[in-house]
Amino acid sequence: MSCRNICTIYRATKSYGGNYYGYGYKRCTDCEIFIKWNGPRCPCCHEFLRIKTHDAKTRKKDIKRKLAV
Ligand SMILES: [Zn+2]
Ligand SMILES: [Zn+2]
Repeated sequence: MSCRNICTIYRATKSYGGNYYGYGYKRCTDCEIFIKWNGPRCPCCHEFLRIKTHDAKTRKKDIKRKLAV
């Protein structure tokens, strides 16, 4: 799946000093934006969203979740 521009509805509008994750925003790597969304997947491209900055623990969890689906 790829970006269908639905994510722009949910996109982060302020910069928040770059600390999007701290404000509950999630990053979609496919759409390459931060969005405000409650689900684990992007409403636009249905990719899994990043909820924290890149650290090894989060990445491992993500891989586990992907394999479980
Ligand atoms: Zn998108
Ligand atoms: Zn997306």
